Amino acid sequence: MKASPAAPFPSVFVSHGAPSLILEGGAACDFLSALGPKLGRPKAVLCVSAHWETDAPAVSGAARPETIHDFYGFPAPLYDMRYPAPGSPGLAQRVKAMLDKAGLGCAIDPQRGLDHGAWVPMKLMYPQAEIPVLQLSIQQRQGPAHHLKLGQALASLRDEGVLILASGSAIHNLRELGRNDRPEPWAAEFGAWLDRTVTSGDSDALVRYSDASPQGVRAHPRDEHFLPLFVALGAAANPKGTALFSGFSHGNLGMHSYAWA
Ligand code: ZN
Repeated sequence: MKASPAAPFPSVFVSHGAPSLILEGGAACDFLSALGPKLGRPKAVLCVSAHWETDAPAVSGAARPETIHDFYGFPAPLYDMRYPAPGSPGLAQRVKAMLDKAGLGCAIDPQRGLDHGAWVPMKLMYPQAEIPVLQLSIQQRQGPAHHLKLGQALASLRDEGVLILASGSAIHNLRELGRNDRPEPWAAEFGAWLDRTVTSGDSDALVRYSDASPQGVRAHPRDEHFLPLFVALGAAANPKGTALFSGFSHGNLGMHSYAWA
């Protein structure tokens, strides 16, 4: 999977779990720690986090993005964590130009920092915080097909060594969390469907997941944590993805992660 200097970087979807993942450790945390070295070092990271929703596409343009602690009631050490990676105002301009050209439009937000959907996986994957990272927002009301188009419009960034890192959750129903890491049958069923559908490259079924999978609506009562996956899929040259990690935390929270060449 490691990108050679001449090969495009894969696009990746990771499930970021609870904000406290980085404190709690466990298999999903270990997976993210190993993923950075496995992928190699990108020139920059464009992170599509479930935790930045805007009406129209926006990209973060800060040269020194702040670490945002956008969660409540978690252990104090989590609020002391910082991820002081630089931004990339130049790349933000290019992202805007590419999305404008595709007719999707894009604003540049010069203030936006890094939310936990971005900095928690980045801190595990690339702990040195040396690689420029910027964020692209999602548009919850516009659904999967729109996010597929965002990825398609940005696909050529992969050729330049930019990692498109989508960060959400394979299954995200906060009313149905549990105490252990054993999923209920409905969540296991959706996880297996997702593994099967991503690895077979059935993009149409993925876009129609709420109808195509019997458990789609239960897995994502609101789909903001699933939408980043479609940006990574849209940026792929081959829709057949690779399952990087399959597993659960807090009962039914899907931690599945994928890469596309
Ligand atoms: Zn989240």
